[in-house]
Amino acid sequence: MRIGIVGGGGRMGQMLIREVLGTKGATLSGATERAGSASIGRDLGTLVGADPVGVVITDDAAALFAASDAVIDFTAPAATVAHAALAAEHGTALIVGTTGLTADDHARLTEAGAKAPLVVSANFSLGVTLLAGLVRKVAATLGPDWDIEVVEMHHRHKVDAPSGTALALGRAAAAGRGVDLMEVKDAVRDGHTGARKVGDIGFATLRGGDVVGEHTVMFATEAERLELTHKAGSRTIFARGAVRAALWAAGKAPGVYSMDDVLGL
Ligand code: NAD
Repeated sequence: MRIGIVGGGGRMGQMLIREVLGTKGATLSGATERAGSASIGRDLGTLVGADPVGVVITDDAAALFAASDAVIDFTAPAATVAHAALAAEHGTALIVGTTGLTADDHARLTEAGAKAPLVVSANFSLGVTLLAGLVRKVAATLGPDWDIEVVEMHHRHKVDAPSGTALALGRAAAAGRGVDLMEVKDAVRDGHTGARKVGDIGFATLRGGDVVGEHTVMFATEAERLELTHKAGSRTIFARGAVRAALWAAGKAPGVYSMDDVLGL
């Protein structure tokens, strides 16, 4: 199974290179970076502190898709949309971890999903995939007198907020209640906000230091509060899940799949 990494010089990209190199049954077919990146021309092995593998980072994404059974993409929304078109053209499986995608970006992924298998998830860890299922169940069980708040914290370099995972957890809670998140989402509170609206799902965002990712979904009512929390200790958990998704997706029928599909949940 030939797996390629786009954005191989990034924080997640390097983690993914290391994970593919250490996965039995997987061969690293190559990696790309954006044109002009300082990582271009560097050996993939030495880039991640391992032995040289004789393959260097390039900026030729089309060649990488042609040479891979699956490509893993943790880059940026504009790059991911372009990579989805290449996946469709070559019939290559694409694993998308990029967050901050707009509704229009998702529509472009759905288009690509007509021609190639895509696995799209805002969080590739096993724990968060299970957490989303639990949140849906709890939200469906507890009535509207339980307020739902999603609190997340990430490292100081993160550029989108709330995190893709926080939004996915919010969507899971909304689905449990049978409502659309966009109609109940309350992500910005500042100044005189008035009292909390019944049925709203609130978000609070913390940024600082090197926190890999922490999410808590709170269910709060009179005299009682239930909190479901996931804490990521290392980015390896996302890389491990993404490589598992790549091994699962290569050769699958075209379509847009989730981590639930990969884990058979
Ligand atoms: P990063 O900035 O360290 O890495 C992104 C890399 O993509 C950079 O090296 C950048 O140069 C490269 N890139 C940009 N455009 C490119 C292009 N056209 N071709 C090739 N490479 C290109 O960021 P990061 O912390 O690694 O995160 C990347 C994305 O993954 C973010 O959206 C983040 O939120 C997301 N993420 C998702 C999960 C998950 O489980 N789904 C987990 C962690 C991070």
